[in-house]
Amino acid sequence: MGRVAFVSAGPGAADLITLRGARLLGQAEVVLADALIDPGLRELAPQARWVDVGKRGFCHSTAQTAINAALVREAGQHALVVRLKGGDASVFGRLEEELRVLHEAGIDCEVVPGVTAALAAAAQTRRPLTRRGQGRSVSLCTAMTREFELPGSPGPKADTEVFYMAGRQLAALQRQLLEAGWPADSAVSVVSRAACADARASEHRLDQLASASLLHRDRPTVVIVGAGARPAVPQSSLPASAPDLDRIPADPRTP
Ligand code: SAH
Repeated sequence: MGRVAFVSAGPGAADLITLRGARLLGQAEVVLADALIDPGLRELAPQARWVDVGKRGFCHSTAQTAINAALVREAGQHALVVRLKGGDASVFGRLEEELRVLHEAGIDCEVVPGVTAALAAAAQTRRPLTRRGQGRSVSLCTAMTREFELPGSPGPKADTEVFYMAGRQLAALQRQLLEAGWPADSAVSVVSRAACADARASEHRLDQLASASLLHRDRPTVVIVGAGARPAVPQSSLPASAPDLDRIPADPRTP
């Protein structure tokens, strides 16, 4: 009986994987990889058999059952199976289900952390998620629920809120955040394919968030609201070497 390493691949650029994750890939016999994994990571495990087990959203719930079964089956036949997950395995990665199934099968495993999309977006835009004195808390939320409603009681949950899986419903997210009590002029930073060569970022007032839909359509996108969405330095002072981002002014009246 082998073991399983859950390796966090990072948000899209192959070189954001950890050294530990890269080492385990180099030892793997089989890699079960999510969608959105940078193909460049295959170079770290040329010896392994790669199986693409990607799935998106709620429409493929049977896919998770198939992944669970594949994990147990492959671990029964190989010394090391790497389960490669996008971003950080512990953030919106359905890790608990896979841990449970391995536990029930008596299979040993480890989890290697990585860079989650929220952190990649903050780095991409140079907008720290926490701010001394003003941004003391950060929440990671999913904008995607079966009911397309934000879960929990109304009201901001943290000084900075980061919404995953938000790309397809920016208009609904705008409405719900306004209803939850965020001011209409709250800063919002929208980042898609953060850390990738074709990353895009835009900034908006909350009541203009829906206008970002076209720019980020069909791309993995996070929406950051509140303290961590505000520029840390005046935009005009960014060096010429700063990443080439699409910028939509937060307020049309701002020069
Ligand atoms: N485990 C992943 C999240 C998986 S859920 C992580 O830690 O990042 C998938 C969602 O993550 C996408 O819908 C999107 O909201 C976000 N996401 C993943 N990669 C991203 C990227 N490079 N840029 C922006 N958002 C990303």
